[in-house]
Amino acid sequence: MNNYQAPATLLDDKVILVTGAGDGIGAQAAKTYAAHGATVILLGRTVSKLETVYDEIVAENHPQPAIIPLDLQGASAKNYADMADTIEDKFGRLDGVLHNASVLGQLSAFVDISEQEWQEVMQINVHGTALMTQKLVPVLRLAPAASVIFTTSSVGRKGRAFWGPYAVSKFATEGMMQVLASEFENRSVRFNCINPGGTRTSMRASAFPAEDPQTLKTPADIMPLYLYLMGDDSARVNGQSLDCQPKPAN
Ligand code: NDP
Repeated sequence: MNNYQAPATLLDDKVILVTGAGDGIGAQAAKTYAAHGATVILLGRTVSKLETVYDEIVAENHPQPAIIPLDLQGASAKNYADMADTIEDKFGRLDGVLHNASVLGQLSAFVDISEQEWQEVMQINVHGTALMTQKLVPVLRLAPAASVIFTTSSVGRKGRAFWGPYAVSKFATEGMMQVLASEFENRSVRFNCINPGGTRTSMRASAFPAEDPQTLKTPADIMPLYLYLMGDDSARVNGQSLDCQPKPAN
């Protein structure tokens, strides 16, 4: 599906929430979804970055987006419930969510990770994402067919030394996706994961400071799978964890 060619109207009339929409892969996904007809809700913690993405979408004459400033670090269940109510009042339904916001945390030996570091990574990457999903399910069920995409990583499938809470959080993400996909089997909301693979963003540069970014795919390069899983061409796909950059079979 990494060669998927999305029709220009793939996401017409769909309302899609993207978390971490101000930078990196999330910003590119938000712009790509808008370019394919979606009304995009841009969620993130740095308002100036969300405004830049908003302005770029409007300048291209794509559907007018909305901005939700929210820090997953401090957000409560009530914040997510209020957000779901606002989306229902304004749009009447939600057709898709791309759970993209994450933090890398500190890469260090397991025994050296501070309690605060554990809590921060788990709060943003797992607890915030779980609570948000819980509160959004009712408004997702108002759509005829909704797609929820979580963002995983290769270290969420096979643990790697020194990747501590980030790796554990991505294992949890895979688990959350599987539980939800199983609960909602044959219903109108489906749940899958995307593993972007090494992609040219600031998170990747923090993890691999010595790497030449020019050797990496850009966020724009990996959008075919993001489009495929969000649109109705993947309507029967549920409970899968798919790679933007699959490793060649040995
Ligand atoms: P970036 O760090 O470039 O972007 C992450 C986005 O998430 C930013 O917009 C950031 O906001 C937002 N964010 C972080 N913390 C919070 C928070 N507490 N509340 C709200 N928003 C928050 O990362 P990438 O684009 O590289 O990564 C996107 C996803 O892809 C992540 O889930 C990552 O784990 C995953 N991934 C990335 C890979 C890569 O090679 N790039 C490889 C494998 C997985 P702000 O800009 O304000 O900090």
